[in-house]
Amino acid sequence: MKFEDLGLEAKILQALTEAGYDTPTPIQEGAIPEAIKKRDVLGIAQTGTGKTASFTLPMIHRLAKGRARARMPRSLVLAPTRELAAQVADSFEKYGKYYKLSMALLIGGVSFADQDAKLTRGVDVLIATPGRLLDHFERGRLLLTGIEVMVVDEADRMLDMGFIPDIERIFKLTPMTRQTLFFSATMPPEIQHLTDQFLSAPARVEVSRPATTADTITQRVIDVPKADDTLKRHTLRHLLAMDGVKNGIVFCNRKSAVDIVAKSLQKHGFNARPIHGDLAQAFRMETLEKFRSGELQFLIASDVAARGLDIPAVSHVFNYDVPINPDDYVHRIGRTGRAGRQGTAFMMVTPRDEKSYSAILKTINAESIERTELGEGFFEKAQEELTNRGANRTRRRDSESADKRGEGRTRRPRSERKAPPARDRQTENDGQPAHEEPLVGFGDAVPAFMMR
Ligand code: AMP
Repeated sequence: MKFEDLGLEAKILQALTEAGYDTPTPIQEGAIPEAIKKRDVLGIAQTGTGKTASFTLPMIHRLAKGRARARMPRSLVLAPTRELAAQVADSFEKYGKYYKLSMALLIGGVSFADQDAKLTRGVDVLIATPGRLLDHFERGRLLLTGIEVMVVDEADRMLDMGFIPDIERIFKLTPMTRQTLFFSATMPPEIQHLTDQFLSAPARVEVSRPATTADTITQRVIDVPKADDTLKRHTLRHLLAMDGVKNGIVFCNRKSAVDIVAKSLQKHGFNARPIHGDLAQAFRMETLEKFRSGELQFLIASDVAARGLDIPAVSHVFNYDVPINPDDYVHRIGRTGRAGRQGTAFMMVTPRDEKSYSAILKTINAESIERTELGEGFFEKAQEELTNRGANRTRRRDSESADKRGEGRTRRPRSERKAPPARDRQTENDGQPAHEEPLVGFGDAVPAFMMR
């Protein structure tokens, strides 16, 4: 089947051709003809399946006729994260380039005043995260009674983020006559309840998730013998430096871990940057852009930030932490091996992760994931090296604090510090009495005016 067979307007087909697409993906093939008939659609599909175009294309088709009125957007797309919202906006721009559709983005980090001015003029497409949308609504800047089409994208992620009550509220602010296009990768009971309540006889289009055992993804586990972050970072550095690692995403469970791992990798000379929800929008966008362009090699990410991002050609995924939610594992490793390319996903598993690991095996329906050995005695050597480094650092720290106290560089680590004989202290310092070392402040060269 070709795009021409789906009933889309000629100018959309032209934009598609220019984007290099001629064959619809299964979700597009299933959803677009139904959506064009103005039916509600329940799409069960995840990122990477082409689901964004499966709602933006029929929306452009429908919105091509008619005009927007002040403060009354004609359509609404709700997305869980700012990045995903921005990606939807890109998709409208790409496929809607031959139409004059006006668009506003209500997401954190984008100027409130600018978007408000757009709303005042009237928009065809409003793309928003639920919280921001309700903010505008509560300020009386927006009316949702003119919504013809409403899209909920990545509903299961919205559930994880606690947005379901907001979504319900938003649904109730829109007219009953609206068309609803609803997408979720999974259908937990809360989502089922939502669709039962707000969708009307939807066409259900389900496409298989990019299978976790896809031939294109090689999955490997590394048994880390101790749940120790220093050891895990050491192991990670080893993995990132392996042959064949072109670029990669490193996933951590917590934002704080994302920051620590990113900082540590940078300190060790890796080209890495963090991305998570607490970072400024401009920084997140810049990071993503650098990663897409290849200027940045490693993206250190939390699940929420990474979900739904359209990042092509990632050669490796590294699970620094074993995800607590097994579905996140599926999403994480789905970042590699996309579009027929080969990819590798590593996961470090410590004795503390056994429970989460078992849950993952159950989800992907596997008895185990193949172990990768990092070489004979890797962890013994690593532990030894880290212990030595730790000891050196303590020594350095002790000597630095001694310097600050003006006690000279001869101070030893606390453990060795039991009343050293005066003679020893002098020998360590080239025979100079310890207190004459080092030069503090101006040393002897204190300017006269300061001595007054
Ligand atoms: P999505 O699942 O919407 O995040 O899309 C995943 C990727 O597939 C994006 O890079 C799209 O640009 C791309 N894509 C969407 N539709 C098609 C298509 N029909 N043929 C090839 N690539 C597509």
